[in-house]
Amino acid sequence: MDSEPRTPLKIHLVSTPDSPEFARFTRALTRSSVVGLDAEWKPRRASHPQSAFPTVTLLQVACRPPAAAAAVASEEPAVFLLDLSSIPLPSVWEILRDVFASPDVLKLGFRFKQDLTYLSSTFCAQGCDFGFDRVEPYIDIMGVHNILRQKQLGRKTAKVSKSLAAICEELLGYSLSKELQCSDWSQRPLTEEQKEYAARDALCLLEIFSVFQAKIINKGKCLKGNVVLHSDRMNLGLKEILKESDTCSAILRIKSFEALHIVRTTTAEFPHGIVTVDEASFRSSFQSTKPMDEALLLVVRKYGEKILLKESDRRPKASKKKGRKRSSLNSVSKEARETIDEWEGPAPWDISTGGDGCPKFLCDVMVEGLAKHLRCVGIDAAIPHSKKPEPRELIAQAHKEKRVLLTRDAKLLRHEYLLCNQIYRVKSLLKNEQLLEVIEAFQLKISEDDLMSRCTKCNGRFIQKPLSTEEAVEAAKGFQRIPSCLFNKNLEFWQCMDCNQLYWEGTQYHNAVQKFIDVCKLNE
Ligand SMILES: [Zn+2]
Repeated sequence: MDSEPRTPLKIHLVSTPDSPEFARFTRALTRSSVVGLDAEWKPRRASHPQSAFPTVTLLQVACRPPAAAAAVASEEPAVFLLDLSSIPLPSVWEILRDVFASPDVLKLGFRFKQDLTYLSSTFCAQGCDFGFDRVEPYIDIMGVHNILRQKQLGRKTAKVSKSLAAICEELLGYSLSKELQCSDWSQRPLTEEQKEYAARDALCLLEIFSVFQAKIINKGKCLKGNVVLHSDRMNLGLKEILKESDTCSAILRIKSFEALHIVRTTTAEFPHGIVTVDEASFRSSFQSTKPMDEALLLVVRKYGEKILLKESDRRPKASKKKGRKRSSLNSVSKEARETIDEWEGPAPWDISTGGDGCPKFLCDVMVEGLAKHLRCVGIDAAIPHSKKPEPRELIAQAHKEKRVLLTRDAKLLRHEYLLCNQIYRVKSLLKNEQLLEVIEAFQLKISEDDLMSRCTKCNGRFIQKPLSTEEAVEAAKGFQRIPSCLFNKNLEFWQCMDCNQLYWEGTQYHNAVQKFIDVCKLNE
């Protein structure tokens, strides 16, 4: 669980089009047959949730060198962090658009459609016509995980949606830190930790895909009986192609891309007269990109998909959330409505203000139930040290522990010592709705792995490894009885590091997990 990722990282921050890093980036792109893509944007506040898409501030591109180069020069994958807040977007638009659509380059992502939508809107806003409309061929790592899972179980199973961190843990044996996920990605300069985190997120896509590719090839199912595409076959004419239907689609794809490429290079018009890239050299190097090697091509033919952005994807949707918010606002009195203030950051845990990036809350007595609910979804939620705390004590505790105070107490809200980013007034009445309200207001990212990952009694974290039944019985001696009906069930027990309470995955556990999947809408 605590093992470190092994691959050493080569991170290149690309912030200007005339830098050596930029040249390195374009060179790597034209030589790679597989790239991992991920994007980061500034978390948005709930006050203007659907007016526009967020602006993407960082695009991470992990490049896998072609198999031949890797074998000869023991080349490591390189990760490029494109600082979209400083680089003029028209200078990278065409390169990215070409790579996104190139049949020579397999694109990997984790639910990348959302990223592409935001990315496209960000580029449009800087005058890049229609942004991006497609990523093809594309393989989603979530799908890869499900295929591997089915192969392992040897049968068709319901698809599961695990977080990227959980997939990483399962397939690569190391964990991705989630702490910086909701840090401020528009802040410059990025911290070393942010860079490392961002790079890892893209690089692990390549690593997971390599595991997948190796397993697929080992099974022999993918390669057996399939054609081998020799480069001399690339010169086949139409007649031969039609005769050999197996080679047909791959060759057609490559040929049509070549044709498209010729059309593009001869008719290329540079938008808005901005040509900061050495266009000619880029074009010529692109022309020299090698088609994928045979093994990869077969995987792509079998599992490759595409992401297409339709017109309707390009506009923020009027969401259901809005309607629900409005109706809950309508139910409170007019007077109260006028005092409703939306959350305005930065949060005390924001790394730009010296925090660690992990959301932390302090729930006052009126919203104690919310604290338990937050813990159930893995969020750090403390309660006051004393039973009847003075407002000053609450504010001091929140300040000291870098927490946001959650309250429904109007008096507390008017307290003179209070800073506006230290307190949030919870509007909803019911615990489930309060939980959802806080998740939305603070843009908290909850995944299934976060559920039941924290002691609901004391807010403590669990031990790193589960205990066996015998160990649990021993550990529980004197304060907690382990029901004997649990013996011989081979259950895993988790102990809270702070209060020693033991938890196990019983029926109640599964019911609770399902409940919070529903409450947090993790299925949507
Ligand atoms: Zn505990």
